[in-house]
Amino acid sequence: MARYIGPVCRLCRREGMKLFFKGERCHSEKCAIEKRNFVPGQHGKDRRSKVVGYGLQLREKQKVKRYYGLTEKPFRNLFEKAEKMKGITGENLLSMLERRLDNVVYRMGFATSHPQARQIVRHGHISVNGRKVNIPSFLVKQGDTVEVREGSRKNPTILSARDATAHTPVPNWLEVDREALQGRVIGMPKREELVQIQVNERLIVELYSK
Ligand code: SF4
Repeated sequence: MARYIGPVCRLCRREGMKLFFKGERCHSEKCAIEKRNFVPGQHGKDRRSKVVGYGLQLREKQKVKRYYGLTEKPFRNLFEKAEKMKGITGENLLSMLERRLDNVVYRMGFATSHPQARQIVRHGHISVNGRKVNIPSFLVKQGDTVEVREGSRKNPTILSARDATAHTPVPNWLEVDREALQGRVIGMPKREELVQIQVNERLIVELYSK
């Protein structure tokens, strides 16, 4: 299960927008997008050329892939799965990305960022329907109960994430009891409330359909 381990603020600067990898820092004036919103590298400041066509499609794919913390192969696999499903491929793709367990842990406020949520899942702090699941790519479905496991309910990282996200809205397809550190999937993610960042999923479909 490969993952990107390089400097993450560079990724936001490359995409020209906040991708929220660093929790509270992303909402502060220390955020690199607030301070240096230009492409990283020696000539970054001079390189704000207009991106069109293939470049636009590529940037859109990279942005979504990075936001959810996936590398190319699993992202492509998910796209192929989305293509085979009924409905609109781009929306299917986003829906599956949203239903990944690491994203659900993040949306429920048990982590302040996707990387932190991924680590919490990997370290075995989360259960789904009462059974430990330590696979970040696990897809939840309607009716599933997601909770912090009993032995992890005093984990300082999780508790401080819960406090830090106390005022972050929870999407309508999830129901959360923050005190009990548990939640439920009560629906399916709808396109209009899918992501924290702006996405044009059609560009990704165009890119992979070439
Ligand atoms: Fe860094 Fe977060 Fe700002 Fe991105 S949003 S540049 S990860 S501080």
